[in-house]
Amino acid sequence: LQQKEVSVPAIFEAIIAKKTTALSQGITLVESTQKKHYKKAQQLIEKCLPYSNKAIRIGITGVPGVGKSTCIEALGNLLIQQGKKVAVLAVDPSSTISGGSILGDKTRMELLVRSPEAFIRPSPSGKSLGGVARKTRESIILCEAAGYDIIIIETVGVGQSETVVHSMVDFFLLLKLAGAGDELQGIKRGIIEMADAIVINKADGDNIKAALEAKSQFKKALHLYPIAESNWSPEVHTCSALTNEGIDDIWKIIQTYLDTTKKNGFFERNRIRQNEFWLVQTIEEQLKHSFYNHPKIKETLPSQLEAIQQQKITPFTAAAYLLEISKLS
Ligand code: GDP
Repeated sequence: LQQKEVSVPAIFEAIIAKKTTALSQGITLVESTQKKHYKKAQQLIEKCLPYSNKAIRIGITGVPGVGKSTCIEALGNLLIQQGKKVAVLAVDPSSTISGGSILGDKTRMELLVRSPEAFIRPSPSGKSLGGVARKTRESIILCEAAGYDIIIIETVGVGQSETVVHSMVDFFLLLKLAGAGDELQGIKRGIIEMADAIVINKADGDNIKAALEAKSQFKKALHLYPIAESNWSPEVHTCSALTNEGIDDIWKIIQTYLDTTKKNGFFERNRIRQNEFWLVQTIEEQLKHSFYNHPKIKETLPSQLEAIQQQKITPFTAAAYLLEISKLS
């Protein structure tokens, strides 16, 4: 990104004129960790805000290999056939550690990658999940301003990544595989409560029977959960992203969900609540960032840590001292 050449009004105009290169540039600005880019990124987001909020945001999660990419390819192409524009973003906190990233390998999204109606962007990297998630949250705004109707956000279930993606989407889809025995074993706590639909993928060939069994187990298990505030009972479904079987049903489920929650007011309420959540998240992230990057803190923190190790002071005394010298308290 050539900082000198970055003109916020020019990028903005090009974004709302649906120029993909400008959208990519804008997202690069949002993702930049350079201080000088931060202000420009915020100006750009601010300009784009009135043009956003119109798309449908869908989160997709599942373990590596479950078929997320294949499924996004299938669903994305179905939506494009219906005349929609689809943006695919990702939240992958592990990319910082591994250096790789989901959506980095686009071989399973061959058609989408080539389609002018689709925009695919791998996960931003970052030191904290909060930072990575905020960048994706902001990129959603830019994608919406660029006229994308459907924003799909992919994540792997690392740490809290599912929770943060859940807090930026309207509909959350959990992809599962059928296995032998208890389907609910090994499933992360909390994820069931977040899912608006559980879809058992790879329901093809010899796998169909097991997939249908898994479906009935999940259905039974879901009965034990109380009705959500959205008044929506999560759907359980099977599909094959490879053969496209059941993909259109996923879209039907999403549409029914949208109808239901728009009518009962949950859709709007949920978005407002998500905005509140992101306000608090951003403040916390920024405060933490400013604190740890404060020159005095950088200089003093190691000696305070050492003093704690040597049991010379308590962590509370050290914290109070550090907050005092950072002038944040
Ligand atoms: P991701 O890691 O969750 O994104 O999974 P991928 O989409 O990369 O898929 C992992 C592997 O599963 C690939 O070899 C896919 O071809 C395969 N796969 C994905 N969906 C299906 C499906 O519905 N049926 C079958 N049989 N294989 C699938």
